[in-house]
Amino acid sequence: MATTYNTLTLKRGKEESLERFHPWVFSGALAGVPGDVEEGDTVRVVASDGRLIGVGHYQIGSIAVRMLDFGDTVIDDAFYAQRLDQAFALRRALGLQRADNDTFRLVHGEGDFLPGLVIDVYGDTAVLQAHSPGMHFARNIIARALTEIDSLGVKNVFYKSETTLPYKADLDPVDDYIIGAFHTNVSTENGLKFNIDWLRGQKTGFFVDQRDNRSLLQHYAKGRKVLNMFCYTGGFSVYALRGGAVNVDSVDSSAKAISLTDANVKLNFGENVANHRSFAEDAFKFLDNMDDGAYDLIVLDPPAFAKHRSAIRNALRGYQRLNAKAMAKAAPGTVLFTFSCSQAVSREQFRLAVFSAAAQTGRRVRILHQLTQPADHPVNIYHPEGEYLKGLVLYIE
Ligand code: SAH
Repeated sequence: MATTYNTLTLKRGKEESLERFHPWVFSGALAGVPGDVEEGDTVRVVASDGRLIGVGHYQIGSIAVRMLDFGDTVIDDAFYAQRLDQAFALRRALGLQRADNDTFRLVHGEGDFLPGLVIDVYGDTAVLQAHSPGMHFARNIIARALTEIDSLGVKNVFYKSETTLPYKADLDPVDDYIIGAFHTNVSTENGLKFNIDWLRGQKTGFFVDQRDNRSLLQHYAKGRKVLNMFCYTGGFSVYALRGGAVNVDSVDSSAKAISLTDANVKLNFGENVANHRSFAEDAFKFLDNMDDGAYDLIVLDPPAFAKHRSAIRNALRGYQRLNAKAMAKAAPGTVLFTFSCSQAVSREQFRLAVFSAAAQTGRRVRILHQLTQPADHPVNIYHPEGEYLKGLVLYIE
């Protein structure tokens, strides 16, 4: 059956990247937009000679169409159900659904061929986040399809898109359950328990993307004095404690984050954990005031310093300053985990900022690991923009 969607025609020559399966049509590539096309509509995209390119969700903005499929495909309930099945099949292949692990990303936008959609699973609750009007309109279909994947075990679907949808689209999304209701917010990652605050927390409530890096940190923790800077929910702190750290200090400027961290330490290790302390303080201030050599395992996982391309220069200066401060006071033999989650900052740029920090301090620094996002945040090879998390593990003498 041929689709009856409205058709958007590309300017001449603008089909090249789409023919290489890049999933975005920029507004400048369109010859025009018919008056009856509305934001969130599914549209057909054709080349200037009328050749069909595929179908996608239209929106107003610099990315005008997010491609859902490169064919004359009907975007209906069965389409979403099938894409979700495929996403879950990958997570099962990755071994992420186990008795000791029920926390994982089920859908990572373009990386799962569902641009504009993010779904994180926390036990029997899924948190669904739309980044495009098209996915906003499809939210109920997607939620129902989620609960129908048998072995996934999702019973509650919380929709959390108040801050992720284009403000101008005037969609007035409400963060709330669209299926089920609050049941429990404790989920398990590699045998550790976490309170997930999907109501008020950042992203979907948890930084699922640091799971593998937290595990790696655990291996270095034995006998070390740990500083977890920008701790948020205390993920790295809890892994460090399990790994046998001598002591762990968690720092975040948000008092809310500190109380989440304290709650997660308590959830795993009980009431009085003598070797954990937490500080609601600014990172730069804390680093300025800390003693030389106080720590020999340090995590720096700041928020995205560059949210847009225009902010890259300042972001790089920020990464350099932050890393230089930590390196200058690191004890000899320190292992430093340093990250950037700014999509606009490239792996090379980040490494150069960290290099500049090292050079500034004059310490002997070696790279032990080069880290990235885990496999449940896959990167569509035709959409390199999907790679955003960058990390270096350094050995500082
Ligand atoms: N490492 C965390 C995620 C960090 S998110 C994890 O694994 O889950 C970034 C955190 O940095 C947020 O919790 C935010 O409150 C905190 N933050 C932002 N600016 C800060 C600053 N100047 N000093 C300290 N913390 C800051």
